Amino acid sequence: MTDDATLRVDVLIVGAGPVGMTLALALAASPLRVLLIDSRQRAAWADDPRALALAHGSRQLLERLQAWNAGAATAIREIHVSQRGGFGRTMINSDDYGTPALGYVMRYRDLAAALDARLRDGQLIDQCRVERIATHAEGVSVSVTQGGIRRDIVAQLVVHAEGTPLDDPDIKVRDYGQEAIVAEVRPRPAHKNRAWERFTPDGPLALLPLGEDYSVVFTVPCDKAARLLELDDDQFLSALRGQFGQRLDFIASGPRASFPLALRVRPQVTRERQAWIGNTAQTLHPVSGQGFNLGLRDAWELAEALLDHPGDAGHPAALAAYARGRQIDRRGSMAFTDGIVRLFSNDLPPLRVARGLGLLALDLYPPLRHFVARRMIWGARAWP
Ligand SMILES: Cc1cc2nc3c(=O)[nH]c(=O)nc-3n(C[C@H](O)[C@H](O)[C@H](O)COP(=O)(O)OP(=O)(O)OC[C@H]3O[C@@H](n4cnc5c(N)ncnc54)[C@H](O)[C@@H]3O)c2cc1C
Repeated sequence: MTDDATLRVDVLIVGAGPVGMTLALALAASPLRVLLIDSRQRAAWADDPRALALAHGSRQLLERLQAWNAGAATAIREIHVSQRGGFGRTMINSDDYGTPALGYVMRYRDLAAALDARLRDGQLIDQCRVERIATHAEGVSVSVTQGGIRRDIVAQLVVHAEGTPLDDPDIKVRDYGQEAIVAEVRPRPAHKNRAWERFTPDGPLALLPLGEDYSVVFTVPCDKAARLLELDDDQFLSALRGQFGQRLDFIASGPRASFPLALRVRPQVTRERQAWIGNTAQTLHPVSGQGFNLGLRDAWELAEALLDHPGDAGHPAALAAYARGRQIDRRGSMAFTDGIVRLFSNDLPPLRVARGLGLLALDLYPPLRHFVARRMIWGARAWP
């Protein structure tokens, strides 16, 4: 069946995850007509088990969109970085940077709920699949289906925000052979707003303060992940103690879920009348919590580029400005996370020594530590 009325908008955003919704909100005050579509049911994010570390700079951007979910955020005041079975450790403290926190931890669903609540009525069409995209000089024709009914949408610009791309020949992939097991666990003693990043030969283990609990991102090789998922809670807590070491105890665990980990990079983030933002532009390893923070900046800078070139949302100059403006941030964030994963996820003795020296250098050489801290707080603005 076909719905004859063609929808005409300026910007069609495909994917109403946190990054797509951020873009819609960043354009809300402009005259642009912005429509979001998502293949899942609205609020499907309510089941997402992840928690995200959000940079202080991301908080400021979300506040400007009136989408900062203050009640759901737990501040990170201190980060302890160390490696299991090797020397070297460093501590980063927000007091040294004149900010109330290095960052914040929030459940994905609480972040998404705050963004969703700011969308205009009728701005999101859910359970909607894109069947065909055809670009022509004046715009893009997109055929979608919703509940078996075909609709046509004509937009000046289509923005892709569909999240992690899978079988796409345009994507360069580095599979880490790791999975992240996520769970919320209750620590003893209380966390006092301290996060831990512990490097182990299996992969990084992050503990992020969330309410009274820690949100755990337990990175392990895929075969080990399958075994960890099958354990009962007590067995899982004891595996976690084994991986983390003696400094803390864990007394209860919530449900577990796993995510496969790979670096997926789309070399070109624009094409005629199309742009890519967030995880569909680059999906990173979760170590050091960069992914959404980077996607948020994608959305923000694309909005700025569009507002700087009024008249035609798909204007080549706007898309060129977006692609140019994102280069350093994307490359820097990818190199930073990929470098950490490759240096730290193994047990080769020379690398263990190199890691120890690196952590020692971070501790003893403040400019290096400040760089890492500024990446946490501001993302791209850490670069001089
Ligand atoms: C374990 C783990 C921990 C993480 N921790 C952090 C962290 O601490 N800090 C951080 O910044 N980042 C973190 N990330 C990364 C973060 O989750 C992502 O960067 C972020 O979710 C990307 O948002 P997005 O909107 O681009 O994509 P998504 O969140 O994947 O949303 C994509 C949306 O598009 C929709 N969609 C998909 N396909 C289609 C289609 N064909 N048509 C229409 N709609 C479609 C989906 O239904 C979904 O609503 C972590 C990731 C993982 C896996």
